[in-house]
Amino acid sequence: MARYTGPVCRLCRTEGKKLMLKGERCKSDKCAINKKRPAPGKDPKGRIGKRSDYGTQLREKQKLRRTYGMQEKQFRFFFQRALRMAGITGENLFSFLERRLDNVVYRLRFAASRSQARQIVLHGHVQVNGKKVNIPSYFVKPEDVIEIREGSRNMVIIKEALKEFGKSGVMPWLQLDPDTMKGTFLAVPRRSDIKDLADIREQMIVEFYSK
Ligand code: SF4
Repeated sequence: MARYTGPVCRLCRTEGKKLMLKGERCKSDKCAINKKRPAPGKDPKGRIGKRSDYGTQLREKQKLRRTYGMQEKQFRFFFQRALRMAGITGENLFSFLERRLDNVVYRLRFAASRSQARQIVLHGHVQVNGKKVNIPSYFVKPEDVIEIREGSRNMVIIKEALKEFGKSGVMPWLQLDPDTMKGTFLAVPRRSDIKDLADIREQMIVEFYSK
């Protein structure tokens, strides 16, 4: 299935939420959501209030899928794995999503957005436990060490992204040494740890796929 290559701000406008798909721009006044630009379409206001249960569940699923930059087939596969695991399906889904290598690279501040992290991984700039890994969906395990490869440490986009570390640090389940560009995935986060996505109602996603 083809990857979405259209304007990403349009996706945020459709969901009415910042999906943080463009790095620094997302925090600036140029962000379409900050500018209160409406959802795409001729009469977006006319659609509000008419959403069915199915429509609401669909939008919740799309929000999460687009936030992590995944295709439907792969996202559904993650959901099915989460369903088969012991525990609460919605929480399991989040733990899978957070363990993706491209997401960990983004969370470690080596990239300004998940799509940029995906490119950095695909182009072979990352290693896990000392070995090059160029698969964005690679599952990171607790205690894995993720680092930028020696020959890639001067890349401007990585250095620029790392500046963000000085402002806000990294998530509590990660540890980062910005000087050596080396981080550790300490533990799989619990759902309650993922505070930047606290507004996602994962139960709706479970209901969506249970139909
Ligand atoms: Fe979404 Fe970022 Fe575009 Fe704002 S700037 S609409 S958060 S992608």
